[in-house]
Amino acid sequence: MTDKNFDVIVVGGGHAGCEAAAASARLGARTALVTHSIRTIGEMSCNPAIGGLGKGHLVREIDALDGLMGRLADQAGIQFRVLNKKKGPAVRGPRAQIDRRLYREAMLDALESLENLEIIQAEAADIIIEHGAVAGLVCANGDRFGAVSVVITTGTFLRGLIYLGEQRIPAGRVGEAPSLHLSRTFERYGFRLGRLKTGTPARLDGRTIDWSGLVMQKGDEVPEPFSSLTANIASRQVECGVTRTTQVTHEIIRENLHRAPMYSGAIQSRGPRYCPSIEDKVVRFADRDSHQIFLEPEGLDDFTIYPNGISTSLPEDVQYQMLRSIPGLENVVMLRPGYAIEYDYVDPRELGATLETKRIAGLYLAGQINGTTGYEEAAGQGLIAGLNAAGKALGRGAFILDRSEAYLGVMIDDLITQGVSEPYRIFTSRAEFRLSLRADNADERLTMKGYSYGCVKPNRLRSFNAKMDLLQFWTNTLHERRISRAELIHLGLPGHTDGIVRTAFQILSFPDVLLEGFMELWPELGGVSRVVKERIESDAKYSVYLNRQNKDIDLFKTMEQVELPPDFDYQMIVGLSNEARSTFEKIRPVTLGQASRIEGITPSALILVAAFVRRLGLAKGSERNVAG
Ligand code: FAD
Repeated sequence: MTDKNFDVIVVGGGHAGCEAAAASARLGARTALVTHSIRTIGEMSCNPAIGGLGKGHLVREIDALDGLMGRLADQAGIQFRVLNKKKGPAVRGPRAQIDRRLYREAMLDALESLENLEIIQAEAADIIIEHGAVAGLVCANGDRFGAVSVVITTGTFLRGLIYLGEQRIPAGRVGEAPSLHLSRTFERYGFRLGRLKTGTPARLDGRTIDWSGLVMQKGDEVPEPFSSLTANIASRQVECGVTRTTQVTHEIIRENLHRAPMYSGAIQSRGPRYCPSIEDKVVRFADRDSHQIFLEPEGLDDFTIYPNGISTSLPEDVQYQMLRSIPGLENVVMLRPGYAIEYDYVDPRELGATLETKRIAGLYLAGQINGTTGYEEAAGQGLIAGLNAAGKALGRGAFILDRSEAYLGVMIDDLITQGVSEPYRIFTSRAEFRLSLRADNADERLTMKGYSYGCVKPNRLRSFNAKMDLLQFWTNTLHERRISRAELIHLGLPGHTDGIVRTAFQILSFPDVLLEGFMELWPELGGVSRVVKERIESDAKYSVYLNRQNKDIDLFKTMEQVELPPDFDYQMIVGLSNEARSTFEKIRPVTLGQASRIEGITPSALILVAAFVRRLGLAKGSERNVAG
């Protein structure tokens, strides 16, 4: 007997859970979001910032599918900067400093405005499973809810344990109880669990910082929003301070390393390599006599400062000594010490590309529970899991993005194919097709696909279509118009010395040529938005490379079309090594393309699989597609 029935239940009101619940409700599924506390919905556990390199791409993709993160970050952003601005558009990363409170409030408003969503404050304790499939959820207070799909997004809460110097505190986040029951549920059903760790720095009272001698860093002159639906940024913008650790800081840390569980060996699990603790940095980069720290305000009406760059698990007294050895922080008051946290994660190779578990039909996992780190990675997975969970309940097909379509596809494919040995974060270098997966064309890649699936609302489609029409018009115009040598000289543009007559689009592909250079020919360009202009410029600059990359994408797609059935019998393949056989059996790749990306799989093992598939004619189109 259940108290109430839903199509989809999402557990956890963090970044994955909010996005999952919103996506499911947008698709029209009756959705419940079950979370410990309504007060902490949309809470940023660590740094008050969204976006960055690779992460900014994810936010744009979430936005292109009508997700929440980009729009809300625009509402709550208090300093916007595009990182890597001097580099090519493919590796630029939009980032914003966020007012924590504004973000939480905006998230709650957004969720409460969704028609099909009910928010339930409770602790999820167990999953109801009948005949190998999800049937609902049991809460710690005894409430039982029925559901076709359940999405678990419990972040760092599964058997979370905080380390602060010698102290050990069971917690999911500071001041919040851990989630103990659900780990047992996963164990009961045979899921492979592991432990990972992460850390956060102390929080400082900004009124006790001496800002006078510090370098202050402003955001971009014209803040660039994340969302294509945001016309401009309305919030007041703030500056961050920049300071550095000193030799004295490093001495204090070295003398106390034995008291830092992140370092002393008390925590055995792996932490995020790209976001190391300050004790880690001091030891690993022993030749450096200082490390940069950004002093980031946590909000417009909040004097709390987040010192970005010095996460630590040292005891509180040592943290004080360390902080006070840093310029500007000589008299600082610590509002809360930093800490490390260790938690259970589920091996993401337990999942398919929809983020549904292979063991239990209708059970989806998203966010830090899958071994990732970061709000954006969590939100992106939440969106995909929420769409598929709702899609399943509503009888629709799967919503899957591949590596050539989106960073979301790259991330999920990495997780389900390679698993994780440390907390996973996205980087532009993880995407082999990154020239076409730019932050500036996320909408072109995804919005129509999202609309066809039902998660993009008509207002976004209208603005998308208007933008595409404009883009098409100007791209055609530039392609059609040949520019004579005399015109080039007159306009002061390059390309007139070799006698070749080029189109305006070809001239635009030259470095340093901007659309502004053609203003005299087309004064109407003055009325075109900056976003559309930059988009045309990057298309032109990348055009030659994109043509080459499209051939690689075709090859990739060919491999992806060769399906490997879920019950594929690898024992039948003569000559396959035992190691390759057991790897294939553990991961069960769904396509030959995925099989090719599994770590340790050799080209010869792959050829054996390909030849076997072709011989049996098992896969769709295998006659045509399989090489080898
Ligand atoms: P969370 O944001 O953790 O949300 C989990 C949600 O699930 C919460 O709302 C919780 O209340 C709810 N919940 C849990 N169990 C239950 C249950 N049984 N029933 C009901 N509700 C439940 N990321 C970085 O990118 N860089 C960093 O340096 C970094 N440092 C971090 C340091 C710390 C101390 C912590 C805690 C996190 C850090 N993170 C960092 C990670 C970042 O906060 C997460 O990646 C992100 O918040 C994950 O989102 P999520 O939605 O998966 O989980």
